Amino acid sequence: MTETLLLNAAKRSLQYLERIGSRKVQPDTSAIEQLKQLDEPFPARGMNPGDVLHLLDERCSPATMGVAGPRFFGFVIGGSLPVTLAANWLAGAWDQNSALYQIAPGTAHVEQIALRWLIELFGLPPDSGGAFVTGATVANFAALAAARHSVYIKAGWDIEGKGLIGAPPVTVVIGEEAHPSVFKSLGLLGLGRNRVVRVPVDDQGRMRADKLPKIKGPAIVCLQAGNVNTGSFDPIGEICKKAHGAGAWVHVDGAFGLWAVAAPDRAHLAKGIEEADSWATDAHKWLNVPYDSGLAFVRDRESLRAAMAITAEYLPTETEHRNPSDFVPELSRRARGVEIWAALKFLGRSGVADIVERTCRHARRFAEGLAAAGYEILNDVVLNQVLVSFGDVETTQKVIAEIQREGTCWCGGTVWQGRTAMRISVSSWATTEEDVEKSLEAMIRCARHHTK
Ligand SMILES: *Cc1c(COP(=O)(O)O)cnc(C)c1O
Repeated sequence: MTETLLLNAAKRSLQYLERIGSRKVQPDTSAIEQLKQLDEPFPARGMNPGDVLHLLDERCSPATMGVAGPRFFGFVIGGSLPVTLAANWLAGAWDQNSALYQIAPGTAHVEQIALRWLIELFGLPPDSGGAFVTGATVANFAALAAARHSVYIKAGWDIEGKGLIGAPPVTVVIGEEAHPSVFKSLGLLGLGRNRVVRVPVDDQGRMRADKLPKIKGPAIVCLQAGNVNTGSFDPIGEICKKAHGAGAWVHVDGAFGLWAVAAPDRAHLAKGIEEADSWATDAHKWLNVPYDSGLAFVRDRESLRAAMAITAEYLPTETEHRNPSDFVPELSRRARGVEIWAALKFLGRSGVADIVERTCRHARRFAEGLAAAGYEILNDVVLNQVLVSFGDVETTQKVIAEIQREGTCWCGGTVWQGRTAMRISVSSWATTEEDVEKSLEAMIRCARHHTK
């Protein structure tokens, strides 16, 4: 029974992946319509598992976005390397609750190795603490919780114990172009989404170092490596120097941009990033592992532990090994570091660099092809992000809608510094030069219907 079921799931998954390159990236409206057939009353009796799987595949598979395929350029989210999907299945079978070393020694050990490799890959301080969390939003939250702990300890205040009510104020400095998830994290931490000091940015969305305010007293400075629209980086090294001179904690949101450090030809963008105090990134983006997989790193690992660890009589204490849950908001958790380990073991340093370089080259080709066809590229294409305008607001929106409907590839829209644009994000291991040419051709064909 179990064997039939699991082999059946593997067969259906394979079939799905084999077809993904030839179907439309966006699901058909008819497929979305058919989802309604799942809207039934809660069944009084169960169904046999083979039929459950069949129903799920038949109804839900066609209604999925082709993110796992080679021509999804909608968000910077990548696909899953086959080895990481396979590791995900195996780890699923293990069903480990990877909170505590004693309960899940195998997966806790593998995560510890993955953490060491990542720290080396990114050139971060070797003793940094790390957290395997659900995504960059929670990674920002965890790192900023460590920042909050540290600045309050220095101010003589036990923030975890006493809370924020009556606490001395902390200044938070952040670029105008920071990702909304950083503001959300600040809100969750009681530091406020809006009581921050915003620093103006330049035409690429980079924080202007000359506009950094004078920092006094307890302070946290939030920087960005990789703007979701342009791919640009704040001048991290320069701002770190100033902020550290004033005693502030520097946090970097590098949800996808941190991976540029792994690519020799891009690392210059992140110059000085190792000087920061904490970093957030995603593995489910450029490393191409399954959801959900984010990472936080903190130079002073004890600040992270102080913000996150709990104790209870029924939980075994651990002094010799790393307890994963001592560093994350969750207690019970899946061993998401296993897929990261598998990706790093499969790729090696050169393989990680190759994914980053290759996707950046594809982005350049998109920009060149669209510019040659007469369309305006709005950003300096320094990384894997391209912003293109097809004309006025209405024309650009119509072209985006047609590209999505046509289905060869999928890109979303945005507004960049007042200009409506299509965003192209290249971050999947599966995208080939042929996919880029095919997609370019489809984009230009769709655009021609509405321009010239
Ligand atoms: C994607 C992204 C986030 C949020 O990451 P999630 O994994 O979706 O939580 C934060 N910051 C930047 C710059 C991003 O690109």
